[in-house]
Parts: sequence; structure tokens; C-alpha cells
Amino acid sequence: MSSEQTKLEQISKICRPQTGEDVPLVLFRAFRHFTADYVAQLLGKRATLVFQNGGRELGREAGKLLKQESLDDYLRAVIGFVRDMRMGILQPRELSDKAIILGLEECLTCAGMDSIGKRICHFETGFVAGIVESFLGNRVRAFESKCNANGEGICEVTVDLTNTMTHE
Ligand SMILES: [Zn+2]
Repeated sequence: MSSEQTKLEQISKICRPQTGEDVPLVLFRAFRHFTADYVAQLLGKRATLVFQNGGRELGREAGKLLKQESLDDYLRAVIGFVRDMRMGILQPRELSDKAIILGLEECLTCAGMDSIGKRICHFETGFVAGIVESFLGNRVRAFESKCNANGEGICEVTVDLTNTMTHE
């Protein structure tokens, strides 16, 4: 196996002649939510970082694949990718030199769930951070500013651009 392969390339090789490439969303959610609960038991608040930084790695890899010169074209490509992957529907809310705010409708992790009183889409938040980092070449801070699982009707990620750092 070549070490040149990206993680995305590795996991994209699928051989399931009888069961195919799609699974019921509830299966993804079972994996996601049961795992998150267990990681939280093990690590407490640091569990958030596991998911956020995992998503960040994916965002960086995807960002390389989707690279465009202008931020507008890049975001258009990212929105298409997120939709094609059926992660959800990304909607730019604010694009300034201080912050990038993206809504995520139909979030795969939590859309339609009843409120559980907390924001939980750390993987998606990290993904957006990684996407932005890939474009800027700087590390950025991101947080989930709204979450359907917190009764806010939509998920939303805010990327803070006021305090960017050089990559790693
Ligand atoms: Zn959410």
C-alpha cells in the first residue's frame, strides 16, 4: 500500500458488491453518537478535540482537492462537495476579514433530532476549520455557534480569523 495515498483515497476504495456504498443515516449516527458518548466518558471535555481535529484533517485534505484561486470559487466547490457527500447544505452567512460564518442545514449528525441541550457537531466544525486553513495556509480557531441538537434549528460554524497562526 502506497504511503502517498491520502486518507481520503485509502478509505474511498470500497468493495461491497452486495451491500453497496450507501448506508442508512441512522447507522452513521449510531457510530457517531455512541462513539462520542464513550470518548466523552474517557476524556471529558477533551473529547470535543478528538472530533474537531479529526474533522480538521478531513477538511485540509478535501481543501487540497477542491483548491481554487478565489475564495468565492473555492467555497462554491466546497459547498458542492459537502452536498455531494450528503454531509448537509452549507450556506455562507458572513465572509469578512474577521470571521467566516457558515450555516449547515440538514446536518448529517443532528438534523431532525430533538434538542439534547448541547452543541455536538465538532467533526463538522473541524471540517470547516480545515477547509479554511487549507485556503489560508494558517491555523484558525473555529466553534459551533448554533446547533440543531441544541434546539437552534440549524448548525452553524464560526471561524475566527482575528487570531490566525502559522500552520502547526
Ligand atoms: Zn450541530
